[in-house]
Amino acid sequence: MELVELKGRDGRTVRAALWPAEPVSEAVLILNGLESNHTWFASTARKLSGLRAAVLALDRRGSGLNQDLQAGLRPWLDDIAVCLDFLRRKHPEARVHLASLCFGAKLAAAYALRREVPPDSFIFISPGLKTRAGLPRGHKLETVMAALFSPGRTYPSPVSDDRWFTRRPEGLDFIARDALRRKRIPAREFLIGWRLDLRRSLLGRRARLKVPALVLWAEGDRIVHKDKTRAVLEHLWRRKLEAITYPETDHCLFFEPDIPLAEDIKQWTDRVRARQAVGIHRRFSPVLKPAGRKVLVLETDYERVAEAVERGLDEFPLAWTGRTVLVKPNVIAACPPEKHMTTHPRLVRAVTDALLSRGAKVIVGDNPGRPGYGRNEECFRASGILEAVPGHYRNIGLEQERVVLPWAPQLGELTVSRAVLEADLVVSLPKFKTHQLTQITGGLKNCYGYLVGGDKARLHRLGRTPRAFAHVLTDIYLIRPPDLVIMDAVTGMEGNGPTGPDLRPDIRRLIVADNAVNADSVMAEMMGFDRSAVPLLEEAYRRGLGERDLEKLEILGSFIRPAHFKKPSTYRRPLKNALMNYLSNKFIFGFLFSRRARLVVDPQLCQSCGSCAEACPAVPKAVVMTEHRGRRLPRFIRRDCWSCYCCMELCPHQAIDKATLGGRRIFKKIF
Ligand code: SF4
Ligand code: SF4
Repeated sequence: MELVELKGRDGRTVRAALWPAEPVSEAVLILNGLESNHTWFASTARKLSGLRAAVLALDRRGSGLNQDLQAGLRPWLDDIAVCLDFLRRKHPEARVHLASLCFGAKLAAAYALRREVPPDSFIFISPGLKTRAGLPRGHKLETVMAALFSPGRTYPSPVSDDRWFTRRPEGLDFIARDALRRKRIPAREFLIGWRLDLRRSLLGRRARLKVPALVLWAEGDRIVHKDKTRAVLEHLWRRKLEAITYPETDHCLFFEPDIPLAEDIKQWTDRVRARQAVGIHRRFSPVLKPAGRKVLVLETDYERVAEAVERGLDEFPLAWTGRTVLVKPNVIAACPPEKHMTTHPRLVRAVTDALLSRGAKVIVGDNPGRPGYGRNEECFRASGILEAVPGHYRNIGLEQERVVLPWAPQLGELTVSRAVLEADLVVSLPKFKTHQLTQITGGLKNCYGYLVGGDKARLHRLGRTPRAFAHVLTDIYLIRPPDLVIMDAVTGMEGNGPTGPDLRPDIRRLIVADNAVNADSVMAEMMGFDRSAVPLLEEAYRRGLGERDLEKLEILGSFIRPAHFKKPSTYRRPLKNALMNYLSNKFIFGFLFSRRARLVVDPQLCQSCGSCAEACPAVPKAVVMTEHRGRRLPRFIRRDCWSCYCCMELCPHQAIDKATLGGRRIFKKIF
């Protein structure tokens, strides 16, 4: 066994015990119970290690190896994500499983309900989702009060007799001698346990989890209420749960020498592997690189952009030689380069040339927005990129794969370009632009172009609010986080992007980073956004995909804040007072401005092309073309609108704008 130290999402060091295996086919993360710690699993972990399964045992914060760290629901769940990520990176070929004992099952179930990358399976060992052992009623009230006013106060464990764990003399002897065992539990942890129960009952009904799960029961368990726990698990899981009950055993199965616990776990993981191998969908288990901290801001213009690209590639050296690299510009529609809605062709050429000179095989491709469906080549021709990279453009929309993302099954089957899935490296070339719905475009949103065709419109239905759409975009980003981001900020776009007329040729920068979220954070800072008001970044930070604190980033080069940068009309700077901010969003903006956009068309600019009606993903359509004084003009049906701003985004003549009369304008002035 060896000790590993991992960096938690809050920067604290979290310790875990690792039983390595050689070679490794499976990796198992084990969560401890209320009183136990990693030493209780040692014999089973050793056996699993001999069966080619590496085991990582995480003692929750406040217990075992991490008893110096303060317990908390969020850090507990974040630590699980960090440990699973550690195992994925350490053993990229292995399946990663989450096992939990007793109280640990509450955390495993809470993790399953989170929008995180899930493990390949869940293994519940004597899961304590509902227990017979509990605090006396009088103590419960006292514990709640203590949790609120004195959370560190400890109370005796609900398990009053060690023989409830095991009746084996060796087991009892081990428990009695265990120096890390906790006999008293802080009130804070009881409260978290009840919060987990409440959250599970609120969220569980619509979760219907699909990840395979195995439950291992002890026949003589006197701690767990098996019927009630089984009902909870069956309520959560859509698939049938598999279960094994060991006769004549007590709660702590690890102390039972006569049962094949490790062998059963290994057989289960092998079955999961076999089933997933014949599944129709490609299996995803993204290996997230540790977030880099360096962001390079280079002053340049389109004439000298090749020099800046060379410098950027030198700063972020990657093994390019002989590898297939997908260069993904932002080609939103068939727009000429002078409109700066798309990545400039000179930047795409400079990146392509630089990669070719380093021995890479380069493919340049993207899936444009809705007016560009089926017109991939036309969009690339209009943007000037087709001509700039002769022989390297590929219509990546033609070769597709249908996939289901394990971390976002609610998105359903998605059509993803095969080039994205098969590229050795992905270089993203987003544009420095604002966006009406998401506030910013950038590296994270550029990944939306991994999707082919109508899925983009369909996902707008699932992400009707900025926050919901931020969830969707982050899920898509996880399909393939780019290895390098080179953002075209030479001429940026302000105001009502991403297809607006307000250009900023004075920025004259490239932003280069090996982490898209970090690059986007720097872009948002340059634009003058309060980053907490950009849901896309908030969601990415919450999932630990990039650095929240700009001071922790190493920003090199010539960072600037362009003067008087115009934000989209949908932007609301948060109020300083958090409570006022919450109340204003909830009751004033939420009530007055509802979710439905109020859109108008400028008949002078409209060319009656019908792209807006075509782009509208709402069902029924919230914008239709109608006859008006002898002309065909769009008419908006507000009650059907999802406020996705696709029509505004994709109008080639910028003829659509938000209505500015009435309460909206008045309140914009006040706040
Ligand atoms: S508003 Fe724009 S997209 Fe719609 S018909 Fe007019 S020009 Fe075309
Ligand atoms: S009218 Fe425009 S904003 Fe409303 S749903 Fe349709 S495309 Fe989206």
